Amino acid sequence: MSRNHPPPQSARVAVAGRDASAVSGKGEPLVEVAGLFKRYGAITAVDGVDLTVRRGEVYGFLGPNGAGKTTTLRILTGLIAPSSGSVRVLGGLPGDPRVLARTGSLIEAPACYPYLSGRNNLRVLARHAGAPATRVDRVLETVDLTGRAGDRFATYSLGMKQRLGVAAALLKDPELVILDEPTNGLDPAGMRDMRRLVRELGTGDRTVLLSSHLLGEVQQICDRVGILSAGRMVAECDVEELRGEQGLLVTADPVDRAREHLAGLLGPGAVGEHEGALRVRVAPERAPEISRMLVAAGVDLFGIRIDERALEDVFFELTSEKETSDVR
Ligand code: ATP
Repeated sequence: MSRNHPPPQSARVAVAGRDASAVSGKGEPLVEVAGLFKRYGAITAVDGVDLTVRRGEVYGFLGPNGAGKTTTLRILTGLIAPSSGSVRVLGGLPGDPRVLARTGSLIEAPACYPYLSGRNNLRVLARHAGAPATRVDRVLETVDLTGRAGDRFATYSLGMKQRLGVAAALLKDPELVILDEPTNGLDPAGMRDMRRLVRELGTGDRTVLLSSHLLGEVQQICDRVGILSAGRMVAECDVEELRGEQGLLVTADPVDRAREHLAGLLGPGAVGEHEGALRVRVAPERAPEISRMLVAAGVDLFGIRIDERALEDVFFELTSEKETSDVR
């Protein structure tokens, strides 16, 4: 199982309270959902969802606004009850205190006292959660807030507040971390920091389940993805699997001659167009062969690269949301 952008080397070691080498039961199902429904009167927010999250993975729950992501995550954390369906979290029922003791979540921002420092807010939350006070400094370090831990919460940026929320979710050193749209509302730097943090959390045997409406984000962070559309799960697989057949984007001149030669080699159905380039359905390993063939045919080759847009195409196909602009 591979991520598109593996975390930087330094990120592999700095995971609060956990020895990344102590991997146990990796791959076993940790969250198992079957036939889940949630209805609010005439609205069916969750419409027969099945999903499995395995130990040690970063699982991305992807879908446009209103797809039912938050509702599903609220059910998994025991905040609301399902209308019907079967849900097992860490081998128990959602909301069971034994399950909650092993789960950390950020679904709604924790209520923080604006006049208390970040550290003191965490101390209050640690006491409430029954977590040892020694965890406070450890989780502050994990979310990179040590330097500002003594400042009042009211002075924090949105990104810092969000990271403090993640710190609160980590107080119990949970096996499973559930984060609802952790980058929502953050500026680009805040998003980058949060993505880096989530990748760190997902190292070792900790399991992370996050929701997002950003395709690129899920691609960067996650091992596996579940795509939700209008309350239904339309795909669940490895990010790499979802990407489907890869291809090449060829920029050449004259483009007609290049198209003719490529179609001659690969068949007319294998050559399309995308933003001025030729989109060629072929294994990327054949790039050198294709370059040589085009150059020998008298075509000027300006660029040949792997077609990275296939996942986006698959996503829009699956959700039939071609016109939506909130999924990037
Ligand atoms: P977003 O990213 O916008 O939060 P989402 O994928 O998390 O979207 P949900 O918040 O789970 O989606 O909402 C799914 C659907 O259920 C929406 O149509 C929403 O209006 C509806 N819904 C959610 N909670 C309630 C509620 N308490 N009462 C009535 N309808 C609700």
